[in-house]
Amino acid sequence: MNRELQKIITIDGPAGAGKSTLARKLAHSLVWIYLDTGALYRALALTAARRRVDQSDYEAAEALARSLNITAQPRPEGTAIMVDGEDVTGLLRSPEVSRDASIISACPGVRLALLGLQRSLGAKGEVVAEGRDMGTVVFPGAGLKFFLHASPEARARRRYQELAGQTENLTRAEVLKDILARDLADESRAVSPLKAAPDALTIDTTNLDIDEVLKVMVKAFRNKFLP
Ligand code: C5P
Repeated sequence: MNRELQKIITIDGPAGAGKSTLARKLAHSLVWIYLDTGALYRALALTAARRRVDQSDYEAAEALARSLNITAQPRPEGTAIMVDGEDVTGLLRSPEVSRDASIISACPGVRLALLGLQRSLGAKGEVVAEGRDMGTVVFPGAGLKFFLHASPEARARRRYQELAGQTENLTRAEVLKDILARDLADESRAVSPLKAAPDALTIDTTNLDIDEVLKVMVKAFRNKFLP
């Protein structure tokens, strides 16, 4: 087994479970790299919408994914994404892009097209990789795997707070509806569905704050990597 591959921590789970904040904080505290793989699917969804490509047309979506030059630059605050030389990082967090990313990411060819890029970003190790299939598909040999989940209501509350101020006329009920739709799409897709790897440590974050979850993660890291 490649020893460097072991120096990867994966964090998977549904939207709003706290993955991004925790992946960022954990990477910061370990001085490892934070990799947000959702940003790749979001960048592809944004580009498909701009070019009027039907997100649910598998053939067209795969052709688009293969024709683009998508590059990712992990940064402490998030993963910067360039599509054919344009930095699209600031355009990826809208509810429309979230919805489209969930649709386009169900395409098997799209997932395959992004697999090599994700693995190359983790190749040097010391990476905290966040997404839906990090522990199951992209980095199955990762040394430590987490799966975070929380009740849909708790996740909608967090997402609403995060989006408030950025998006006008958005209600909490709409955020909850979007989250439930994305859960269903992510969990029921045929390829790389959202699920915990058998060797992942599952944490229910419904009634825990960020620092409490971080403590659990750092303890697991110490047990695994600093025996
Ligand atoms: O994590 P984030 O909310 O940014 O991801 C946006 C969408 O991209 C998810 O709803 C999911 O459908 C898709 N995704 C995925 N696999 C990943 C990361 C994200 O399918 N590894």
